[in-house]
Amino acid sequence: MPLIELQHITKTFEVGEGEFKALDDVSLSIEPGEFVAIMGPSGSGKSTLMNIIGLLDRATSGTYVLEGKPVSLKMSDREQARLRSEFIGFIFQNFNLLPNADVISNVALPGMYLPAPRRSSEHPSYDRKGRAKELLEKVGLGHRLRYRPSKLSGGEKQRVAIARALTNNPKVVLADEPTGNLDSKSGEEVIKILADLNRQGTTLLMVTHSEELASAANRIIRLKDGRIV
Ligand code: ADP
Ligand code: MG
Repeated sequence: MPLIELQHITKTFEVGEGEFKALDDVSLSIEPGEFVAIMGPSGSGKSTLMNIIGLLDRATSGTYVLEGKPVSLKMSDREQARLRSEFIGFIFQNFNLLPNADVISNVALPGMYLPAPRRSSEHPSYDRKGRAKELLEKVGLGHRLRYRPSKLSGGEKQRVAIARALTNNPKVVLADEPTGNLDSKSGEEVIKILADLNRQGTTLLMVTHSEELASAANRIIRLKDGRIV
């Protein structure tokens, strides 16, 4: 069973008097454990696609099936947020860390949004900070727990964001140009962490402009003008 299946997805934005079709009849299927790179020129719809798969936005029409269950395009924001916290880890180009919270709090935060039954069955005395510390150690930041994000380098910020994305044990991690704001050395470190995660079983979708970074993936999906080419 595919983890993610999109059938004939379109996304239309209203612009002024008219409409703009950012995604035009996109169908794709992602199997559990895949590492897929998404490429295409600027404006081709990559982020729009990631936001729909990541439940940050809704398609205008089409079908989205997540682990065998159709995702309603009409569900409430609350329902969408609940599904997102259960299934999705998201990594953004600009990190999106909370500036006034320390590193460990940034990583622990998504644990607050887990449904209570899952919190308690998987971790009898669910310890959000303990889990965050474990994940930060895994990305090599065990020595930065009490730092504010502003004190970190770009590569370190993105590693915090990776740890945060993993907090709720997501079924899929989505990374939208995760190395776009990094120098090439930090970028390579981030890709190495993501590729390791994939080897340990995490399904991974990554937008990148770099053919070299995309070559770490098992498969490349190319978009142009909102369509898969
Ligand atoms: P990419 O990530 O490939 O650069 P995007 O998915 O961000 O492209 O955008 C695809 C197209 O949709 C662009 O032309 C962009 O201007 C347009 N678009 C994206 N978001 C909106 C929005 N909220 N309102 C209007 N147009 C949008
Ligand atoms: Mg984009």
